Amino acid sequence: MSARPIRAALLSVYHKDRLAPLVATLRRLGVTLYSTGGTQQFLEEQGAEVVAVEDLTGFPEVFGGRVKTLHPKVFGGILHRRHEAADLAQAQEHGIPPIDLVVVDLYPFEETVASGADEQAVIEKIDIGGIALLRAAAKNYRDVLVVSSRDQYEAVTKLLDETNGSPSYDDHRHYAAAAFATTSHYDTEIFKYVSQGTTLGATGGQTTPLRYGENPHQAGAFLGDLGALFDQLHGKQLSYNNLVDVDAAVQLMREFALGPPAVAILKHTNACGVAQAASLHEAYLNALACDPVSAFGGVIIVNKQVDEATAQELNKLFFEVLIAPEFAADALPILQSKKNRILLRQKPVELPKKLIKTLLNGVIEQDADLAIETAQDFRTVTESAPSPDETAALEFALKICKHTKSNTIVLARAGQLLASGVGQTSRVDALRQAIEKAGSFGFDLHGAVMASDAFFPFPDCVEIAGAAGIRAVVQPGGSIKDQDSIAACNRLGMAMVLTGVRHFKH
Ligand code: 5GP
Repeated sequence: MSARPIRAALLSVYHKDRLAPLVATLRRLGVTLYSTGGTQQFLEEQGAEVVAVEDLTGFPEVFGGRVKTLHPKVFGGILHRRHEAADLAQAQEHGIPPIDLVVVDLYPFEETVASGADEQAVIEKIDIGGIALLRAAAKNYRDVLVVSSRDQYEAVTKLLDETNGSPSYDDHRHYAAAAFATTSHYDTEIFKYVSQGTTLGATGGQTTPLRYGENPHQAGAFLGDLGALFDQLHGKQLSYNNLVDVDAAVQLMREFALGPPAVAILKHTNACGVAQAASLHEAYLNALACDPVSAFGGVIIVNKQVDEATAQELNKLFFEVLIAPEFAADALPILQSKKNRILLRQKPVELPKKLIKTLLNGVIEQDADLAIETAQDFRTVTESAPSPDETAALEFALKICKHTKSNTIVLARAGQLLASGVGQTSRVDALRQAIEKAGSFGFDLHGAVMASDAFFPFPDCVEIAGAAGIRAVVQPGGSIKDQDSIAACNRLGMAMVLTGVRHFKH
């Protein structure tokens, strides 16, 4: 199908650069030019004769330019179907002349956001009429040619020159698709800006149905853009429970991202194995040793490229998900040998800084817990201070403790989680659970350290830990009975440091 020649064009462009050659061609072809105020001035400077949109509509630009082209005479001129007798009759009845070419350069929304402009300035750069013009012209691509970017001026000028102002139907369609690409990108950028800090902002506006929720009788869906965060290299679709564990894994491994090779194994959002070592292979073996029973069916995350030796070792375990920043070429086929195993390559993307949860008849939100205390933040309150090795172990234990369900006690030595008590209703229970677990997997706790997510209300935890061989303790402090726990440490020859920062995780 060949399109009719272009006889009238509407030009409304924010940036006026690069437009001159296109204008020259349109003038040579005798095309009637309509335009908005700023564009009109530019065209007239080129010596062109221009009909102001205001003269076409009989209505002035109002509200500081917020409404310029939004008028039936403009949109009717673009949208009426030239092959429909009824449309043509209506156009004639209302004095609506056809517009066959629409050239728009949108308000620079992205650039304005990037410049750090304030909210009001950014909002004023949300183009309304320009977007509508592009969409209308693109919708009616059968009859109208649409130019939606300055990058297209040169090619369109050439096209008009070569076709003597009558580009083909295929050309119309090509530029219509490009216009929709422009408008959808533009609206996505607006969405990102306006949704910041809202629930929709956290989800990216995308919904993925899940097979079910936490249990098969519960429907489930994920609202967010997983593709922005991971490339799934292998395996079945992530389940609701997988997603919950993957989130916990990613949050935990963030604490170890920059350090030596590290591996964490999680079950039901809690770590059942974490280790740092000189190689990923060794770190994995140490993490697995912590609790090989729980590791079965777990979610594993590592902070370095998975190499072949580590892949061979991992392959011996049944696990649900493995998350890594990269997989070596010779490691991937080994891991892909099990059909359902999910392999995720994690992209270095920032996570939301606000956390949102439904509750009662609303939602609660809070800042993500991005605080982590290191040795510089430790305040020794006992007669003896922790040794350098114990200090390293305390830092390590605290990172895990922060990401473990409260009430929790984490027992560790430098670079290896030994055991934790998780989600207990009392801290003493958490400690007892941890000690028993460590014993059941053959760990000797003599010389190990202990981290607690919150303060000790009584000296009992310290006393039990001391009896088990624990030598150093990190906790936030802040109990009115802190002194009782400190005194117990002194009595037992243990070191205690306070951080002043609680890490509850409910
Ligand atoms: P001009 O410089 O010609 O006065 O304005 C050109 C700009 O106005 C273009 O970026 C175009 O997308 C935009 N524009 C055209 N019509 C409207 C409208 O009705 N409302 C708004 N907000 N912008 C428009």
